[in-house]
Amino acid sequence: MRIIVHNAKCQGHARCWAQAPDIFKLDDDGYILPGDIQVAEGEQLLASQGARSCPERALEVDRTSAARFGPAAMQPRTGEA
Ligand code: SF4
Repeated sequence: MRIIVHNAKCQGHARCWAQAPDIFKLDDDGYILPGDIQVAEGEQLLASQGARSCPERALEVDRTSAARFGPAAMQPRTGEA
């Protein structure tokens, strides 16, 4: 899962950071740092909550990116002749 960061919408409320400070990094003025955020498997719930808490809708959750081309999809099938 990935969080798409729309920097221009950020108003520095820091609500995302309050939910998940290890996921959402802010600059010295309290605005989210630019760049999409790749979220580890175990942090997805926290990341979603943080993204939803943004009143400016500056954080967009993208659930489509990771699973499709992950290692499991690349494994050759076994047992086929
Ligand atoms: S909650 Fe939204 S507006 Fe506030 S710092 Fe995070 S991204 Fe920016």
